[in-house]
Amino acid sequence: MSFIDLRSDTVTKPTSGMREAIARAVVGDDVLGDDPTVIELQERFAALTGKDAACFVPSSTMANQICIKALTQPGDEIIAHEGSHIINYEGGGPAVLSGCMIKALTGNRGQFTARQVEESIRPDDPHFPRTSLVSLENTHNRGGGSIWPIEEIRSVTSAARDRGLKTHLDGARLWNACVATGLSVRDYAEHFDTVSCCFSKGLGAPVGAVLACDKKTIHKVLRYRKLFGGGMRQSGLLAAACIYALEHHFKRLSDDHANARRFAEGIIKVPGLSLNAQHGTPAGVDTNIVLFELAEGVPIDAAALCKRAAEKGVLMFDTGPRRVRAVTSLEVDGAKVDRAAGIIRECVTSAR
Ligand SMILES: *Cc1c(COP(=O)(O)O)cnc(C)c1O
Repeated sequence: MSFIDLRSDTVTKPTSGMREAIARAVVGDDVLGDDPTVIELQERFAALTGKDAACFVPSSTMANQICIKALTQPGDEIIAHEGSHIINYEGGGPAVLSGCMIKALTGNRGQFTARQVEESIRPDDPHFPRTSLVSLENTHNRGGGSIWPIEEIRSVTSAARDRGLKTHLDGARLWNACVATGLSVRDYAEHFDTVSCCFSKGLGAPVGAVLACDKKTIHKVLRYRKLFGGGMRQSGLLAAACIYALEHHFKRLSDDHANARRFAEGIIKVPGLSLNAQHGTPAGVDTNIVLFELAEGVPIDAAALCKRAAEKGVLMFDTGPRRVRAVTSLEVDGAKVDRAAGIIRECVTSAR
């Protein structure tokens, strides 16, 4: 059976063009700093973000954890949204690798306000951890691929900076925010000390993430990349795929967004299904992630729906007892998302 895979945009496989770019890549030894393709990717990313330097790493998890390590001391507290990737999906990394506590903020769709940040900063007193870093995620994964409004980013990061805090942007899917808003990577990055972006999600590379920062921080970043085991040798093979992804798969993310809206329109027509309450209408599907809910009256839960749909060839994840997440990527097109919505309709209606 050929599956319609809506589990994540991480399931994207390298295209034949990308495989050719990998095969052609000129490589060196990146730990020794002489892999020309890695250097090219890093230079391009530094230019895109407007930062002094960039560093290629195996995953966005490592990118985030290196940035946290570089911007904090053990015993510090990080301010982040309760739904953030660094809290929920990185194995407790901030505690294990950096010895940091996290102050988790609430807020719609992965967002919080400058006022919340100001109220969370600890007074300078030996009782308290030292607040040192604010981390934002854009687009926000658990928020349903939601986009932080740029004015909110400006307001939160300037409040942080005014109080002497550092700022990190988990931009694993920043590409999606850029394509959806028309803002540049730099328009977002300029508000942060460090920025991480992923190449193995919607951009379709097999492996890789890049982080950017200033000259002083890159020195620490290289040390922590080595410490965390992320120093790679002929990694130009991987960087070549990332460069190809930038050139060929960045702009086309708008197709993924259109397919996500199209899928959402199919889903809301199914009795008993609605988009996540935080989203409202399909117009509220900001990018390539669709969260939908099963009403109490639907006699199956999210896990059972995902299981049935999988038997019929549609793969998705349940992210709550009555919530399902579907993600579009270059693995699916308009016809496939229509077929997926139809199969989900069958699974829900036959359950009655
Ligand atoms: C996927 C993701 C990451 C981690 O990416 P990996 O490359 O899988 O480690 C980090 N942050 C966000 C917001 C993500 O969605």
